[in-house]
Amino acid sequence: MHRGPYVYVTKGSRTYHYTDDDCPVTSSILKGKKPFQRITEEQAQQMGLKLCRHCAKEYREDQVERQANRFSVYLGAVIAVVMVIAFFLLTD
Ligand SMILES: [Zn+2]
Repeated sequence: MHRGPYVYVTKGSRTYHYTDDDCPVTSSILKGKKPFQRITEEQAQQMGLKLCRHCAKEYREDQVERQANRFSVYLGAVIAVVMVIAFFLLTD
């Protein structure tokens, strides 16, 4: 999932897409099968376009993954602190 400053819009479509080839539309855009316009997400929203549901789904999953990563970093830090405390308690 790559969410850059630009989104892709295909001709005549009411949706816009992130750069993610998990989305069938973005996949054809990236393969050069569909003519597209590259605009900013802000412009797309001003034009009344909606984020494509495939891209929205991937984006949500990505957010969840990122939170999970953050949690494991946090857990690692907690374990390190506990080990340091245990070390000082055990060495007398
Ligand atoms: Zn899409």
